[in-house]
Amino acid sequence: MRVDAAAWIRAFAALIDEHADELTALDAAIGDADHGTNMRRGMTAAVAALDDSTPATAAEIYKQTAMVLIRTIGGASGPLYGTFFLRLATALANGPELETTTGITDFARAFRTALDGVIARGKAEPGDKTMIDALAPAADALEKQASTADTPQAVLDAAVTAAESGRDATTPLTARKGRASYLGERSAGHQDPGATSAALLVRAARQALR
Ligand code: ADP
Ligand code: MG
Repeated sequence: MRVDAAAWIRAFAALIDEHADELTALDAAIGDADHGTNMRRGMTAAVAALDDSTPATAAEIYKQTAMVLIRTIGGASGPLYGTFFLRLATALANGPELETTTGITDFARAFRTALDGVIARGKAEPGDKTMIDALAPAADALEKQASTADTPQAVLDAAVTAAESGRDATTPLTARKGRASYLGERSAGHQDPGATSAALLVRAARQALR
C-alpha cells in the first residue's frame, strides 16, 4: 500500500472540517481563536483546487496545495503548513512521472524533509508547544518503522500514535513560539492547537493508504 497524495489532502480537509470548532476553542484559550477557521478556509480551498484540476504527480499535488494554503490560511500556520507541503513536493520531485502515490520509505524521507523545512521556517524546537511536537515524533516513527518489515498500515499506525502522544504532551508545556508564547506560563495547561491539527494531518495520511 502507498500514500495517495490527493486522498491525503482530502482526508485532512475532512478531519479539519470535523474538528474546526475544537481547534478554534483550543486557540481561544492560548491564542486568538482562529486556528479552526484558518485551517478550514485553507483546506476547503485546497480541495476546491483539486476538484478544479488534480495534477498528475504527488509532487505537483503537494505543490499546488502549498500554494493554496500560503495564499488562503493567513496566520502563523499558513506559511508553516505551506512550507510543509512545498518541501514534501521538493523531496518527491524526482520521483517517477505520473505517480500520484508514494511508497512508505519515500514517504518517511519526504516527511522528514518537510518537517525540517517547518523547523527552519518557524525556528521552533520540540518542546516549544507547537505543531513540531506532533510532527517530529511522527517523523521519527515513520523512519524507524519504514526501515523494518512492517506493513505501511503498521507504520502509519505507529506514526499516528506518536503524533497523538506528542500532541497530548503539549498540554503542560509553556509556549515558546507563536502567539501563545505571549502568555508565558499561563499557556501551560492547554493543548496546543497547531499540534492538534498536525496530529490530524498524520491521521489523514493513514486514511490515504491505497
Ligand atoms: P496565529 O497564531 O497567527 O493565529 P494559527 O492560530 O492558525 O495562527 O496557528 C497557531 C499554531 O501555529 C500554534 O498552535 C502553533 O502550533 C503553530 N505555530 C505558531 N508559531 C509557530 C512556529 N514558530 N513554529 C511552528 N509552529 C508554530
Ligand atoms: Mg490563532
